[in-house]
Amino acid sequence: MISTSALERFLRYVTIDTRSDERSHSSPSTPGQLTLLQLLVRELHAIGVADAALDEHGYVMATIPATEGHLGVPAIGFIAHVDTSPEMSGDGVRPIVHPDYDGTDIVLPDDPDAVLRPTEDPALAAQIGNDIVTASGKTLLGGDDKAGVAAIMAAAEHLMRNSDAPHGPVKIAFTPDEEIGRGADHFDVEKFGAACAYTLDGGSVGELEYESFSADAMTVTFRGFNTHPGYAKDRMVNAIKLAADFITRLPQDGMSPETTEGYEGFVHPYVIDASVERTTVKLLVRDFATSALKQREAFIERLASEVIAGEPRASVDFKVEPSYRNMREVLDAHPQVIERAREAMRRVGITPIEKPIRGGTDGSRLSFMGLPTPNLFAGEHNFHSRLEWVSAQDMDKAVAVIVELCKGWTEKR
Ligand SMILES: [Zn+2]
Repeated sequence: MISTSALERFLRYVTIDTRSDERSHSSPSTPGQLTLLQLLVRELHAIGVADAALDEHGYVMATIPATEGHLGVPAIGFIAHVDTSPEMSGDGVRPIVHPDYDGTDIVLPDDPDAVLRPTEDPALAAQIGNDIVTASGKTLLGGDDKAGVAAIMAAAEHLMRNSDAPHGPVKIAFTPDEEIGRGADHFDVEKFGAACAYTLDGGSVGELEYESFSADAMTVTFRGFNTHPGYAKDRMVNAIKLAADFITRLPQDGMSPETTEGYEGFVHPYVIDASVERTTVKLLVRDFATSALKQREAFIERLASEVIAGEPRASVDFKVEPSYRNMREVLDAHPQVIERAREAMRRVGITPIEKPIRGGTDGSRLSFMGLPTPNLFAGEHNFHSRLEWVSAQDMDKAVAVIVELCKGWTEKR
């Protein structure tokens, strides 16, 4: 049987610059993504996945038909995003394979300061004997999420060519613009037609993620009164000073990104647009319990209101916009989706590692759009960095988990 390994595929996919771009209003946001998406459609056709198609928003969807006697098995989906982070150059990525890794420092040739050190990276230290892929020092690698794309493609080829692997209908989607938060915007859940799905966009072997933050964006706007500073006595009210007072009242010893971990939430001021007349502070509000978001927002409102309490000429108002919600709120109603992933990992000799994501994934939004979607490992490390790396053996394990998961869903529970 001819088959193309996840590694071979990965090395091709990463050479295409697919950085997404927040400033663009098209979907996909950049033409490079379209180049890769079109390539994936051609490759799916080449392995016999006849219905693979690219839609007008840059989403590739495809179906691997069920094996004989398994048409009634629920359709399950696998999803990966083709874009890479715009925060780091992705132009001219030169992937380098370090075969049979010996545990020493890896110096990236295009920048001697870019060094991967196993002493600082336990995940790398655990890779001795494996084939590690890095970029050359000037760009990201694009393991996030082309490792996931390559694993899904290799698994698709395996399923198409091996009739001994029973499975129901298997749905595949490659999506654009995840890194700029638009990955689920035009995802047609109905058309996809899966009962549940798995994103392959995680790190170390065994990672199984089904809890994410619930997230709101909050804007606090202070209004003061501006006038000529030479003649401002008893008249001017400086909104910048009000905002500064508000920020210093935020907790110093907790409730912030720099002081929390695990299941702890936070409020995080990240942008200030300041003038004397009007100053806005933008904050991220995060917690694993959606109900706790409301408490944190009420807390912010109280702090800001206290700031202006002694100044009747000032005012403050608040705007809250929901960003995404903890996927667990959906997945708790579909325990099989997680349980079958655990089982598939155990069957290929992997111990599941379950931990909460201190962020969101496309799966967080897809779950609330009616497609329960936890996240599985794809072997990505050092996301969005010049020091990004993947291991070929980890990608192969992701392929094995996909195949085993497809098999598992044919078994009655
Ligand atoms: Zn990703």
